[in-house]
Amino acid sequence: MKKKNRKKIKDILSQCKEELEVFVMGWIRTRRDSKGEFSFLEINDGSCLKNLQVILDHSIDSYECNSVKLHTGSCVSVVGHLVNSPGKGQQLELQATLIEVYGEADPDHYPLQKKHHSFEFLRDIAHLRPRTNTFGAVMRVRNRLSFAIHNFFQDRGFFYLHTPIITTNDCEGAGEMFQVTTLNLDSTPIVNGKADYSQDFFGEKAGLTVSGQLEGEVYAMALSEVYTFGPTFRAENSNTSRHLSEFWMVEPEMAFYDLEDDMNLAEELLRYLFKDVLSYCIDDLEFFNKQIDKTILERHQGIIENQFERISYSEAIKLLDQSNKSFAYSVEWGSNLQSEHERYISEVVFKKPVIIFDYPEEIKPFYMKGNNDGKTVRAMDVLLPKLGEIIGGSQREDDYNALKNRMKLKNLSSDDYKWYLDLRRFGSAPHAGFGLGFERLVQYVTGMENIRDVIPFPRTPKNAKF
Ligand code: ATP
Ligand code: MG
Repeated sequence: MKKKNRKKIKDILSQCKEELEVFVMGWIRTRRDSKGEFSFLEINDGSCLKNLQVILDHSIDSYECNSVKLHTGSCVSVVGHLVNSPGKGQQLELQATLIEVYGEADPDHYPLQKKHHSFEFLRDIAHLRPRTNTFGAVMRVRNRLSFAIHNFFQDRGFFYLHTPIITTNDCEGAGEMFQVTTLNLDSTPIVNGKADYSQDFFGEKAGLTVSGQLEGEVYAMALSEVYTFGPTFRAENSNTSRHLSEFWMVEPEMAFYDLEDDMNLAEELLRYLFKDVLSYCIDDLEFFNKQIDKTILERHQGIIENQFERISYSEAIKLLDQSNKSFAYSVEWGSNLQSEHERYISEVVFKKPVIIFDYPEEIKPFYMKGNNDGKTVRAMDVLLPKLGEIIGGSQREDDYNALKNRMKLKNLSSDDYKWYLDLRRFGSAPHAGFGLGFERLVQYVTGMENIRDVIPFPRTPKNAKF
């Protein structure tokens, strides 16, 4: 039998018809023996959630020599007749005529023996967890969402932009960058009491990007509509279920968009993605709806069918004031909204996604466009029930002098951002954009509680090993 004749289990199960000879490869999920005459193997090859049931008649030639190697976790290839199954739970089954073992999985040592393992346990074996139902399903959903993101933007004429991972500008002037250096940390060259970065690889202090936005703006000022979709790094010490040190961010940046256009695009994107994943990953989503969170399907349908609520930051503060709820962090006009506040507004007050806009100038970065009230900027955050913030965006300041003033107020050197100011000096245009945290999206779609369980190899404080 040639390898090219191999069929994926997904295709076998969806074609739904008997076949004289079929060749599959995959990993044994379970083995059950019956009366010493037959064995039932459940085989999974990752192509879909479902397993293929293989009936192994103990009288076939290849049974005897392979029998002791056929355990949970072993990798096999099977040739057989695909027939309608008399048993419950599956439509088709494969009656094996030949079985071969590629790799055995010693039952005394292979860790995935039970049906259910805790996610904490699985996090310690990130190299094996994709072989579980949950992590296989997360990966397939993650894959589909990535593809759908590209489809969404490509269909609308946006260009996919690769922004740098190593950068010398810190997007928000926040001190949460990982440093990139080839200096010897045991004997760093010191000049005037400070590390001498002129001797470093890039001749100046460099780090891993916290956002591709500023570079996105450069290309939006030439190609009109662009988007980035790449890894982002933040050295913040937030050990929450919604923060990673390395995560993927989707950042569209559009010339000729104002804040309202920006909010419309964010809403349209989310609705598109939920619709797409419901049609392409329904088996996996039904699995999550059953095993992880019984409200997922209903919530997704709600997102597709209902307009998001939009309220200003000032209105949000009023709602929180009137709530009579005691929050861990108190709020007053001018303070940052914490996740508990965001969730209260979307989960309790409106019970649907909410976009909050026009935030106080002091709590937002320098590049956001000021409103005429002199107090607020054209920022917006999209909040989802049960999750909190999933998108943060804004209309960007396009006026040269206003931007320069705001940089001064925030103690940023206009020399460092000369190129950024140039975008306003030469052919400036109104523009806007946002950042969507890709893992938060996968979290919301799958209902997975912890963000560490929706990225293949999570990086968090004190944890960057496999
Ligand atoms: P938060 O307040 O939750 O830390 P933020 O205001 O720092 O978010 P932005 O800088 O606006 O977030 O980034 C845009 C989006 O990126 C966020 O809306 C969120 O979805 C995602 N995001 C931000 N930080 C992280 C992180 N550490 N891990 C995973 N996703 C993140
Ligand atoms: Mg943050």
